[in-house]
Amino acid sequence: MENQMNVWRINTRTRNLEISEFPAGWERLGGRGLIARILNDELNPNCDPLGIDNELIFAPGLLVGHRLSSCDRISIGGKSPLTGGVKEANAGGSTGLHLSHIGCSVLILEDQPKDSNLTVIYLSSQDCRFDDGSHLAGKGVYESSDILLQKYGPEVAIALIGPAGEMQLKAAGIQNLDQDRAPSRIAARGGLGAVMGSKGIKALVIDSSGGSPPDIADLKGFRKAQKSYNKSLLDHPQTKVYADYGTAAMARISHSFGGLPTRNFSEGNFESLEGISAETMRDQLLERGGDSNTTHSCMVGCAIRCSNVYADGKGRGIVSPLEYETIGLMGSNLGIGNLDEVARLNWEANDLGLDSIELGAALAVAAEAGKMEFGNFSQAMELIEEIRAGTPTGLIIGNGAASTGLAYQIERVPVVKGQAMSAYDPRAIKGTGVTYATSPQGADHTSGLTIRAKIDHLDPHIQIDVSRKAQINAAGYDTLGVCAFAGFGFGSAPEIIPALLQARYGWDVPGDILQELGRQTLILERKFNQRAGFTKNDDRLPVWMTREELSPHNTVFDVPDEELDKVFDWINEDD
Ligand code: SF4
Repeated sequence: MENQMNVWRINTRTRNLEISEFPAGWERLGGRGLIARILNDELNPNCDPLGIDNELIFAPGLLVGHRLSSCDRISIGGKSPLTGGVKEANAGGSTGLHLSHIGCSVLILEDQPKDSNLTVIYLSSQDCRFDDGSHLAGKGVYESSDILLQKYGPEVAIALIGPAGEMQLKAAGIQNLDQDRAPSRIAARGGLGAVMGSKGIKALVIDSSGGSPPDIADLKGFRKAQKSYNKSLLDHPQTKVYADYGTAAMARISHSFGGLPTRNFSEGNFESLEGISAETMRDQLLERGGDSNTTHSCMVGCAIRCSNVYADGKGRGIVSPLEYETIGLMGSNLGIGNLDEVARLNWEANDLGLDSIELGAALAVAAEAGKMEFGNFSQAMELIEEIRAGTPTGLIIGNGAASTGLAYQIERVPVVKGQAMSAYDPRAIKGTGVTYATSPQGADHTSGLTIRAKIDHLDPHIQIDVSRKAQINAAGYDTLGVCAFAGFGFGSAPEIIPALLQARYGWDVPGDILQELGRQTLILERKFNQRAGFTKNDDRLPVWMTREELSPHNTVFDVPDEELDKVFDWINEDD
């Protein structure tokens, strides 16, 4: 049985839905790869990201739909208002699963309404309608999702924006409900929440109650491959570490490499590491009890369960999850060494619908400009309140680190292609610096993190291959809809991905299909960016990082430009 792949295309001005089969060239793509294909096929790369010609694309990955552990992610994409280039941001939660169950292989939101009324799109296998969303205007993500769940029922999936998206701020993301209906799984990066806001859409509600999982061509083969995958995943030692400590374990690892961003990327070690470490978080949560949960999953069926619920001293939940990237950018990078304070900042970012990486980086740049003191939680909260109020200062910070640096004339701004770096200083973890510099997505650890490679991370001459491989694998996983941590299982048994695809779709695929999908995706993304005007000069870290030494190793980013240009030398870009 050959699976039918359908495009659902909604014109946000006429409110018309059209469903059609995939056109040629799209059939064997999903998630990030499909987004890159569509942007190349349908978009003027020079269009205004917040104008009528941009599209907002929701693309479940190729393996989404069957509750395979950690494999139901949603990719969301369009032209980025933050970078001006190609953008895909993905999230866990339930949006991908529910879209696949109503028979939608990709949803494209086109055009823009003529009026400024906020709407909610309701989608099911039988219905598409625009409901009034004006009562949600200006409301935070948490309150909005409560109202929506009351109206549409507790089982629906929701992707929604907060006030930041409504204000079309470039650090705005799109939140998705997790399996406990908490709206905190954000497709964070690149300002896609602003694109959703520019189309007047507060929320997308997906009701899959009348739907069913996508067809499987060979059910027996699929279950056999799934069983091997589960075994491989559960046998991997990191699966247990992530269940106990989650991504927060990276705080100590980054610190040990001298790459934990501290006070606006000015140091690589943080004197208050113990206050924000995974060990402290776990001990606190076990002691506090109540809503606390050290081992939690964002989606049904995940065997890794890297997520958590962070509760206060009385056991009342503050935020879920509290992840390393937020701990790095809103903790050490702001000089804040207290997890309760980081959790409260995280809640605010979530409620506004803001990327906590971009916001943390922007606040640190603002601190350098004297707008707050490093380590001062109350002042950080006051600046976030300015974003909510839409003051001039709030708009500057809410538009991201580059905007903040420009407004306050600060040189130490940690961005590439306009997007803030994640919580790994590239002067200490140089392979990840190569990824930041050259990824078509802008600075983003999820595009190819190298910290786990068994190499000297300070040697500038051995990073290119490591970053290239990491970028190809990451683009492959994002095209499949697979969480990066599922790589614990797939990495040690690479034959499982071809077996799953073959069983699900009936396709004959090569043994290196993961890398094949990754390469295809990167070729398409580079092509889009090239057409949008990007050159090799955009594949560079900021100059100050090549001059200003980072303690404790006192190193600069010194991977030569000629080496950076080799990362994609396998692509013929003259075509
Ligand atoms: S490993 Fe973590 S992020 Fe990945 S699917 Fe599971 S809970 Fe979600």
